[in-house]
Amino acid sequence: MSGTRARILVTNDDGIHSPGLTTLAKALAKIGEVWVVAPDRERTAVAHAVTLHKPLRVHELGKRVFAVNGTPVDCVNLAVLNLLPKPPVLLVSGINKGVNLGDDVLYSGTVSAAMEGTILGVPSIAVSQEGRDRFHFDAGVHYALRVAKLILREGLPAETLLNLNVPNRPLKTITGLRVTCLSRRRFENPIIEKTDPHGRTYYWIAGTRISWSRNTGADHEAIEEGAVSLTPIHLDTTHHEAMDRFRAWEPVLQNGARRTIVAPSSVRKRRG
Ligand code: MN
Repeated sequence: MSGTRARILVTNDDGIHSPGLTTLAKALAKIGEVWVVAPDRERTAVAHAVTLHKPLRVHELGKRVFAVNGTPVDCVNLAVLNLLPKPPVLLVSGINKGVNLGDDVLYSGTVSAAMEGTILGVPSIAVSQEGRDRFHFDAGVHYALRVAKLILREGLPAETLLNLNVPNRPLKTITGLRVTCLSRRRFENPIIEKTDPHGRTYYWIAGTRISWSRNTGADHEAIEEGAVSLTPIHLDTTHHEAMDRFRAWEPVLQNGARRTIVAPSSVRKRRG
């Protein structure tokens, strides 16, 4: 029976003992064979870091449960390319303690794990729960499960992952689900400068958020209005619309300050 069940990889960046991961893994076991491969400690905001200069150790904590002394991206690589007997049909990263909205996706280990899954050809979702200390993981799990089931049925487009954020409120009071775009955060006092007891300066990168741009249809707007946010993210971050503009720079960059756009054919011939 287990041979026919969908193989699902669960990881996170809050560490293998995070209740968000445990709750998620338990729920996904209803629809597939769950494998947990996660960092042995919290690795929040490590983004897409990989460990290259020290050995990775894997500890089997239980049946199909592995802790790794590495980053979320390390975990995904080890899981997909080595630990699992075959690649998973789905990767779910989370449930993260705290939202990953807008620019957060660039720093988030939770989202990077899902990106790495996507790079390796595994349909992947990142799941994050709004909140600071008391989390309504039941709401996060409910929507993670729905999205997971739909992906198993419908698949995902190539190079595309889904970023799911769930408001921190009882499931019954959630106002809906919206497909959203990424917003942008604006920070106030992003760098905090202080002096230690020895008179030396130290810093915290710890801005207090004051506002968001890209309001209409954005992820933060959905969360603020009590709705679940689902953002499709594409791996290709090329700015395709800007390519023509920069192609006009090509001759200038190739030929230094000269404005010559194309070298005369005689010159090209002599060079060849
Ligand atoms: Mn985290």
